[in-house]
Amino acid sequence: MSNVVLRDVKKTYPGGVDAIKGIDFEVGDGQFCVLVGPSGCGKSTLLRMVAGLETVTSGEIDIGGRVVNQIEPADRDIAMVFQNYALYPHMSVYNNMAYGLRNRGMPRPEIDVRVREAAQILEITPMLDRKPRQLSGGQRQRVAMGRAIVRQPKVFLFDEPLSNLDAKLRVAMRVEIRKLQRRLKTTSIYVTHDQMEAMTLADILVVMNGGQVEQIGKPLDIYKKP
Ligand code: ADP
Ligand code: ADP
Repeated sequence: MSNVVLRDVKKTYPGGVDAIKGIDFEVGDGQFCVLVGPSGCGKSTLLRMVAGLETVTSGEIDIGGRVVNQIEPADRDIAMVFQNYALYPHMSVYNNMAYGLRNRGMPRPEIDVRVREAAQILEITPMLDRKPRQLSGGQRQRVAMGRAIVRQPKVFLFDEPLSNLDAKLRVAMRVEIRKLQRRLKTTSIYVTHDQMEAMTLADILVVMNGGQVEQIGKPLDIYKKP
């Protein structure tokens, strides 16, 4: 079980900005949840709280039946994909994907199986020995996703992962992420500005405004409304 439950979650930044004003929702096991809403509505703050990169002012965040408010990011069993891929430029693709697992002391043969499997899913096997600068933007974003996949986390968190790509690549990667989701069925929370991404990817769509949930439901139910 790896659902994510938010119970009356609030965030006030030092200085007094009420970024999140009491949010409740659940992302079911294996569901893909997309967060949308205008700039400044609190999407990134909410995602970062689930990741443990930002403290929770009050309320509870629960991952797989466990309250994680006080649990360090590394121990939450989540993996996050960012818009700036933040790959290590001096390391090969293989090592970029293996790095986090090595740090956790995973035995080499198991790391090798995971890296190769992820590379195969993402179709980057021929690039394993290259450095990031020898890859296209789309390939780099695949490596960034590979780094998340090899962890086999309970939950994926995506912070506008495609927003730095050009329009054509964005469409292609959107389709890739959808395929990936069908295959891996990992519970996911995905922040985006892009309505097409939200429509394509979301099992459950959360529309935020002013630090609150404005609407929640299936994308077709939300976007068909005038
Ligand atoms: P979004 O991701 O939807 O654009 P954010 O979560 O980044 O929204 O921001 C929500 C609100 O919190 C905004 O008013 C923003 O200015 C404020 N905010 C974000 N980060 C910080 C911070 N580190 N310190 C103070 N205020 C912040
Ligand atoms: P760097 O590219 O940072 O110099 P290396 O190429 O020396 O790193 O690789 C470090 C370790 O990672 C090696 O011991 C090797 O086992 C493993 N490794 C790197 N690339 C591959 C690959 N394509 N296939 C299998 N193992 C690899």
